[in-house]
Amino acid sequence: MDKTILTLPGDMPGLCYSLTVLRFQGSDPKAPKAYLQAALHGNELPGVAALHVLIPRLQAAEAEGRLRGSVTVVPFANPIGLNQFQWDDHQGRFFYGSRTNFNRAFALIDRPDPALLTDDADGVSCDRRLKATLQKLALDADLVLDLHCDNEGPNYLYMPAELWPHSADLAAVLDCGAVLTFEGGTDASFDEAAFRPHLAAGGFERRVVATVELKGIHDVGPDTAEKDGEGLYRFLVGRGVITDAAATPVGPFTGKGVPQSYVEMIRAPVGGMAFFHVKPGDVVRAGQLVAELIPVPGDPASVVPVHAVAPGLVLTRVLARAIRVGDDLVKIVGDERSATAKDGGALES
Ligand SMILES: [Zn+2]
Repeated sequence: MDKTILTLPGDMPGLCYSLTVLRFQGSDPKAPKAYLQAALHGNELPGVAALHVLIPRLQAAEAEGRLRGSVTVVPFANPIGLNQFQWDDHQGRFFYGSRTNFNRAFALIDRPDPALLTDDADGVSCDRRLKATLQKLALDADLVLDLHCDNEGPNYLYMPAELWPHSADLAAVLDCGAVLTFEGGTDASFDEAAFRPHLAAGGFERRVVATVELKGIHDVGPDTAEKDGEGLYRFLVGRGVITDAAATPVGPFTGKGVPQSYVEMIRAPVGGMAFFHVKPGDVVRAGQLVAELIPVPGDPASVVPVHAVAPGLVLTRVLARAIRVGDDLVKIVGDERSATAKDGGALES
């Protein structure tokens, strides 16, 4: 294992960030290359926990001559967001300097040429330098996994529609509750930016690019880390990156794989305290009560019920119970396109 610590200058004198990059050298240049990063949103740690389990297994495979494809791992992909706090609250999603989401506004290039990624240069703000650096690290990988998490929910994936269902093995090993595919743009998220340079060349069966949502932000611990780390390991074995005859073969994926436009985002019509009546994994019918919002405690007449618009699977639920107008409450995966689906763009801000 080669460990490199890259230095990213901050935007004022006196501050720099360290980005640790781990490289594992494969023995077969024709084998697929893999790139995995976690915590692009700073404090989303389930992926970091899975990598904590995976990294020693990659070291063992490399030492024992079982690593065929080269693997690059960036366990904390966003040292800027990792260090953003406001008083006691972590704020890892948006860069304080510009309010830009750390997983949006990546450079979209149409071929895998690192010379097209020029933002890792003097005179560029640190968040843009970081994005260009991560894109370069992932540029020649066949398998690109960007490990995130949601508020509350099961494992699930986002990926370009072109890669589905060829990538069902990833959904199967991670026991995903759903796979959401996107066509066109997602506001230049990392997965879109990592896939775009390879779009013209085709050859999609060998390629996997996914945003991997590993459960909820509080699902960080030894049991989930072991399960997810083992799942990622089996995925790499199944794809021929690692040789391991003892690894459990990848089974079929039995969950839903649908366009992300099938997701109904249930939003809060008023602010207040939320009482939820559904949880992730529940299957709801059209009109079923999802939540009650309570702006005036003690006044039953003030309670605003929120119902499911269409039938579907409750995929995720917001962690907060203090809710503002317009906040996302739950994502429900339906059986057809949502009447409120946007044409293009990311599902969330
Ligand atoms: Zn995230």
